[in-house]
Amino acid sequence: MLSVSFDITEQKKMEAALRRAKEAAEVANHAKTEFIANMSHDIHTPLSGIVGLSQLLEGRCKNKEEKQYASWINESGKQLLELLKSVLDIVSDEHISTTEVNKEAVDLRQCIRGLAHLVFPTAKMKALELHVAIEDAVPQQVITDVTKLHRVLLNLLSNAIKFTEKGSVTIKIETIVDDKDYVQLQFSVIDTGIGIPDEMQNKVFERFFRVNPSRKGTLGGYGVGLHVAQNYVGLLGGEIKLESKLGEGSTFSFILPLKVFHAVDSSKEIEKTNHLRPITSEDSPYILLVEANSVALRFIESLVMQAGCRFASAADVSHALKLIKSNDFDLIFTEIELPAGSGNQLARDIRKWEQETHRKPVPVIGLTTTPLNEMRESSIDAGMNEIINKPVQLQTIQEIINKFIF
Ligand code: ADP
Repeated sequence: MLSVSFDITEQKKMEAALRRAKEAAEVANHAKTEFIANMSHDIHTPLSGIVGLSQLLEGRCKNKEEKQYASWINESGKQLLELLKSVLDIVSDEHISTTEVNKEAVDLRQCIRGLAHLVFPTAKMKALELHVAIEDAVPQQVITDVTKLHRVLLNLLSNAIKFTEKGSVTIKIETIVDDKDYVQLQFSVIDTGIGIPDEMQNKVFERFFRVNPSRKGTLGGYGVGLHVAQNYVGLLGGEIKLESKLGEGSTFSFILPLKVFHAVDSSKEIEKTNHLRPITSEDSPYILLVEANSVALRFIESLVMQAGCRFASAADVSHALKLIKSNDFDLIFTEIELPAGSGNQLARDIRKWEQETHRKPVPVIGLTTTPLNEMRESSIDAGMNEIINKPVQLQTIQEIINKFIF
């Protein structure tokens, strides 16, 4: 009898090595995709700040040449923002093939607040109102893939702002089914923009489809965002719907079935709820910001918004006083070195008016670039509650709000 044997040890070793190399390559590829997605997201915030502020600068520049430079910075910034969006879309689109869905506890209000913060500068610069409406019944935390949900909503919000010239953009979350451990939530992004013709409403979800492909500039884009949004919503268990009327606006919405995540320590949950109030809900604190420098004003507006508050802004003492007399503010932040009447004078006027009308004193916080010691005494004497140094940090704003409002 003849027996033939082959030594396949080497071959097995090679196969194992190949398998390991393939797995390592997949892990590296996944890490790369995640990295690009995260990085694009992180670049978005400062870049939209540049776009917003350069537009502001353009409006303020008297000198023609400077105006032109500001306009170029703005244009370049916008192009970069579009490029960034498309990089993210294409990366996300490739990522879809993996059909991977992460399940993690997500604080919806925090997620929406972060989103609103991202798009706030662009909305503000177009003078659009940005509303966040989260029903009280919406659970604090649910289980879902936050990266995908965030990506979908960011795409819808960016489009809503891009295709709206006047009016408002609203992001809304409503409870459709509430079964304690399980909910169905409807997410909607509503705009009062240009709308989409009936015959195009299905097509907009196709990859690379754009209603106005030739339009450049502000309305630039690659037609990938909605395709990604549709696929992601599908992966999350929903279906994206569009209602739109040409010239009146569009509503993109989807319903997701979600498990509710119950936090172990409910006292912590309550603390968190207060800390992360929905951005423009009726009961969020109402703050007056008084600042003569419009760039500094935009900056503090965005911080106050991140802290979950509504706000009104004034650039001088007389406008501030007018607003104070016609609104119920919970807190006032005022620049101390205001032109045409100092912040200290404003504080004195407020206290005098409060005494005359028997009102409860509203906390007034002074902002200054001068060393605190030099400022403190005179400002506190004038009726301010506290003085803080500029540039202000978000954490300081939050501490002040917690100390004086809650
Ligand atoms: P992009 O915005 O990059 O062009 P999208 O896939 O996000 O790509 O959108 C595809 C097209 O759908 C847009 O070019 C636009 O014509 C239309 N569209 C999307 N959102 C809106 C909206 N909110 N209002 C009006 N048109 C929209």
